[in-house]
Amino acid sequence: MATGPTHAMSGLAGWAAATALAEGTALGSLSVKGWLVGAVLAAGAALLPDLDHPESTVSTTFGPVSAAASKMLNWFSSVVYKATRTNRDSKREGGHRGLTHTLVFALGAAVVTTAIIQTSKSWALPVLMFFFCGLAVRGILHKWCPRNDALWITGTSLVLTYACLKWTDPTSPDAAACGVAVAIGCVAHYLGDAITEQGCPILWPVPIAWKTWYPVAPPKIMRMRTGGRVEMAIVGPLITAVAVWMSAVALQRAGNVLPGIDLIPWT
Ligand SMILES: [Zn+2]
Repeated sequence: MATGPTHAMSGLAGWAAATALAEGTALGSLSVKGWLVGAVLAAGAALLPDLDHPESTVSTTFGPVSAAASKMLNWFSSVVYKATRTNRDSKREGGHRGLTHTLVFALGAAVVTTAIIQTSKSWALPVLMFFFCGLAVRGILHKWCPRNDALWITGTSLVLTYACLKWTDPTSPDAAACGVAVAIGCVAHYLGDAITEQGCPILWPVPIAWKTWYPVAPPKIMRMRTGGRVEMAIVGPLITAVAVWMSAVALQRAGNVLPGIDLIPWT
């Protein structure tokens, strides 16, 4: 895994780029509020896959509740890994970097998110929003310690949740985009993992080279060390710059927030 802020930023960058470049489609014509909700969801979802690791920062987001959920997810992921691996797949436990690190999971998370937003009028929507806001806050402010800063983490997440709920209109087409935002966040996480570790089984259960959990990764030379100099000095700042620029383009299109300024010079 990359560090929390890099993962969260990559989710935001993915969402911003997809919406900025999708001109003329439903995704490219969101309202400003709809776009902001998507941005929070994508940043939070970019931390979601690591809930399968009981010791990851993100598994401590909601104290004992998320820690217990993470243990269960790790166990379930391990069961699925063992049940579906072939002789060629590695003999690892498969609890971490298993089911939650696949496109199948990203798609499932997207469908569940959209379904909750479009059908829920009561408790489920606030819980969903608080969940993703918590992940986003935890990812970006990963140095905040759950023991000392629990109040800050909860308070910031609650304020963000309140704003997102105010900005979410379950009846508008923007609601369907929330699922897309979650999927984009998950995929951004997979790409981040693929370039820092021994690959990510993104395409499960499609067999590649007789492996259903084939670790998709670029050549070794293109991979970096988690928290190393390449991530901190080059990749992290680059992703942040793309996130800021593409966000400005998308917001400009959604609400002309910077009148008279052309953010895509080549058009
Ligand atoms: Zn991961």
